[in-house]
Amino acid sequence: MSVNFNNNSKHVSYYNFGSGSLRNLEGLLDQKKGFKLFLIDHYFENKNIVQKLPVKEGDVVFFISTLHEPKTTVIDETLSHFLQLKGNEKPACIVGIGGGSTLDTAKAIANLYNNPGHAEAYQGWDLVKNQAVYKIGIPTISGTGSESSRTCVMTNSKTGLKLGMNSDFTIYDQLILDPDLTKTVPDKQYFYTGMDTYIHCIESLAGSHRNAIGDAFSREALQLSREVFLSDDMKSDKNREKIMVASYLGGVAIANSYVGVVHPFSAGLSVVLGTHHCVANCIVMGAMEEFYPREYHEFNTMVQKQKIEIPRGIAANLSASQYEQLFNSTVIHEKPLTNALGGNFKEILTFEKVTEVFKKM
Ligand code: NAD
Ligand code: ZN
Repeated sequence: MSVNFNNNSKHVSYYNFGSGSLRNLEGLLDQKKGFKLFLIDHYFENKNIVQKLPVKEGDVVFFISTLHEPKTTVIDETLSHFLQLKGNEKPACIVGIGGGSTLDTAKAIANLYNNPGHAEAYQGWDLVKNQAVYKIGIPTISGTGSESSRTCVMTNSKTGLKLGMNSDFTIYDQLILDPDLTKTVPDKQYFYTGMDTYIHCIESLAGSHRNAIGDAFSREALQLSREVFLSDDMKSDKNREKIMVASYLGGVAIANSYVGVVHPFSAGLSVVLGTHHCVANCIVMGAMEEFYPREYHEFNTMVQKQKIEIPRGIAANLSASQYEQLFNSTVIHEKPLTNALGGNFKEILTFEKVTEVFKKM
């Protein structure tokens, strides 16, 4: 009897949730013999949290810059640095502490330790052949779902491709979900990144590539993000907990579905103008009335409620060649666009239409 592996979904093996759960890291690391590699968002350099981490002699602590989102070449260089430092010895565990950029970098490096070649060779679906180094993810900002998803998004500047290593091996072995860690996120960033969950879920639920389990995760994640961003204090203790759960569920949902129109346009802004993923999504939402009318209005209500400023006009006056590049890096995303608009999406998203949408942002 054959198994339909297209519907065979892997989850994170363990998660430890709740305020203060970071204290359990030491016990988890004690079970692993060998050096530990800590990859930490640069925001935490010299912060209290880092001083309290269970770093032992021989462990390596490395701060990840989030000035740019992960690039394939930077990931390769970072891994080479560790290999030189440790004479090719592999870590017993990799600990990623940060937002989507850091969590994704840790996932990619864990894969590359056990799979030969450069990061770009694994951009795609199920190209990773060997089990990754054991890894623990500790998100410090909520929304991307990187903590629970089976990808690690990377930009290949040479080819313009923004695509991750979609693989079961990319999924974290263990998570520590401690909402205390998100207290220090600035309001704007908290909103932009939190909205990534909302946007993933509205896109999935409006698409044609669906299944009942993905829908259930999306609906709950969407409900939680509405509660957070329509409330008076999006960063209350309760709300930081809720959006952390929403982000986790959203990441699971996306493994069972595809995104839609927003993410391809957002990827265009990231590839051509270097705009960071989550703010780019929010910018795109401002031009989505025709594709997601109800959510377009709801999104604006949330923006006003939380008094968040969304940059405007960033693609209003560009050169002809930039519009050409924006068009190409948007319509290249065939899977989500087919999911949202059908196989003939190119008849809807003509060059003129795509340019008009970018000018509206
Ligand atoms: P990020 O990791 O780039 O962090 C955003 C900013 O918040 C940075 O300046 C960072 O230093 C800061 N920050 C993080 N935690 C903080 C804290 N506790 N206190 C203060 N500042 C803090 O941003 P992100 O929005 O989480 O992630 C974006 C990345 O995630 C993109 O590269 C995107 O492509 C990727 N992504 C991945 C997936 C996936 O499934 N793997 C899904 C969606 C997006
Ligand atoms: Zn996203």
